[in-house]
Amino acid sequence: MLVFLRTYAQNFLNSRLMDERRSLPPAMISDFADAGLLGLQIPQALGGQSLSHTDTNRVFTQLGAIDANLAIFCAVHNTLGIAPILLSATEDVKGQVLPRLAAGQALTTSAISEPAVGSHVRGMTTSAIRHADGSYTINGAKKWISLGGDARYVNVFAGLRDERGRHLGITGFLVDSRTPGFGIGAEMLTLGLRAVPQYDLTFNNLRVPPAALLGLEGDGLATAKAAFMGGRAVLAAMVMGAAMRSLELAQRFTKGRAVATGSLAENGRIREVLAGAGAAVQAVETLTSHIASGRDDGRDVPDAWYFCAKILGCELGWNAIDTALQVLGARGFLDTNTVGQHFRDYRLFRIFEGSTEALSVYLGTTLTRHPDSFAKLVRRTHPSAPVLHLIDQVAQIAADRPDEAAARHIHAALVGELACWALLTMLTGEAAHRSAMHAYTASWTEHQLQRRLHRAYGPHRHLPTRAEFDDHVADYAQVIGDIDQRRWPAEEWRPDPLLR
Ligand SMILES: Cc1cc2nc3c(=O)[nH]c(=O)nc-3n(C[C@H](O)[C@H](O)[C@H](O)COP(=O)(O)OP(=O)(O)OC[C@H]3O[C@@H](n4cnc5c(N)ncnc54)[C@H](O)[C@@H]3O)c2cc1C
Repeated sequence: MLVFLRTYAQNFLNSRLMDERRSLPPAMISDFADAGLLGLQIPQALGGQSLSHTDTNRVFTQLGAIDANLAIFCAVHNTLGIAPILLSATEDVKGQVLPRLAAGQALTTSAISEPAVGSHVRGMTTSAIRHADGSYTINGAKKWISLGGDARYVNVFAGLRDERGRHLGITGFLVDSRTPGFGIGAEMLTLGLRAVPQYDLTFNNLRVPPAALLGLEGDGLATAKAAFMGGRAVLAAMVMGAAMRSLELAQRFTKGRAVATGSLAENGRIREVLAGAGAAVQAVETLTSHIASGRDDGRDVPDAWYFCAKILGCELGWNAIDTALQVLGARGFLDTNTVGQHFRDYRLFRIFEGSTEALSVYLGTTLTRHPDSFAKLVRRTHPSAPVLHLIDQVAQIAADRPDEAAARHIHAALVGELACWALLTMLTGEAAHRSAMHAYTASWTEHQLQRRLHRAYGPHRHLPTRAEFDDHVADYAQVIGDIDQRRWPAEEWRPDPLLR
């Protein structure tokens, strides 16, 4: 598959055109299906590739290096779409649907986000009612659904009530998009990832059979969590591929570029900046490998590792791309340059499938409430004495929970972030003996943790009150006005009433 992807990218792909046209080339889907890319973890008996988690990551790192659109297309289908079916659909449904998905005869995705709720999944308002015959009727609206207008099968998550109106909890349903009542709304004109469209979806008295149920009634969030946690590590694997490609190009550029101090490749500051980005990429690689091999070996991988992969993987990966862009100077800012497109496309990774802030606050809150869980994570590895000392400091900060709500949010985000750095420091420390670069990565990661601890212990700043800050921002209007450009219709797309 890796060879296929490299050859395919070399000979057939035009990322710039895909980006400009906001579409994937039509032949790509059948080519990818032939190469096995649409059924990565579907069992071979059902037409898939039965790939391990480690090998799945390798495929996504390669895809991510080539083009985020290809990577996200495959990730939406394989992780958002197929994973919940694989984990929670009935055997009959799996037998009917999975071979079609692996063969590229149909696409799939998941619909969770709504116009009024994104990160706060429990607040969703899409509803399902169970009827006496065991079927369900779904009503509501979803937003931002990748491939939502193209997928034949959509995993829809909705708040379920029984015949008597009792709330049974959020529940997952596998919906065939050809069912009456399934509506496809506008396509979002996103900043990046332009070739993978996102849509609004609506469900208007959409009736599904009992077999559409994914997992148990009321277990939708558990189903989604079991399926999507792995997807978070896959996102980190993708952005790592893009960061590697960006650093490959930046490193090459420095060798041929002269600046005031001589060769750019010899400049100490640039070497330091690039080595830091390389260390970040290696740290993320160590982390994603740790998660994937743990899963392949059947070990329980605690949630904190996945959060760490999503938070630090996506933050550090995107920062490494930004570093490469900066080192490339004006060439980095070219729209025709892979690095520029990666910079735009991978910005999303810090937002979707749980934004950095939402996940840090959640992780920090959990660890603060259950200090034992952090201690357990630490016990599973063998940190050196200096690293253990830093980890003790993180635990002390976690224990010092403020009472006031806003201060608690800040504290939780800090604890979540520190915990992620602590995990990364433990892991890279264990790998330090592997090579000179691994040793550098371990010391770089430890230094990042120390810097953050130093800041956390530093002087406490008082936030302006909400009213003070509201007034401050309201004053901007005196400097810059408050202008919305009038939107002229760029193209006419509505049916002409005289022609209907
Ligand atoms: C290109 C694209 C593709 C997508 N594909 C899909 C898809 O296929 N299926 C699907 O269901 N959804 C999809 N989404 C939706 C995506 O998962 C949500 O955008 C994401 O979960 C964030 O939700 P939101 O945008 O509503 O942000 P909000 O929940 O409104 O949050 C806004 C910001 O507030 C901050 N924030 C949020 N919560 C907290 C907190 N607890 N503490 C502190 N700060 C916080 C963060 O900075 C966050 O970025 C997609 C989105 C995009 C842009």
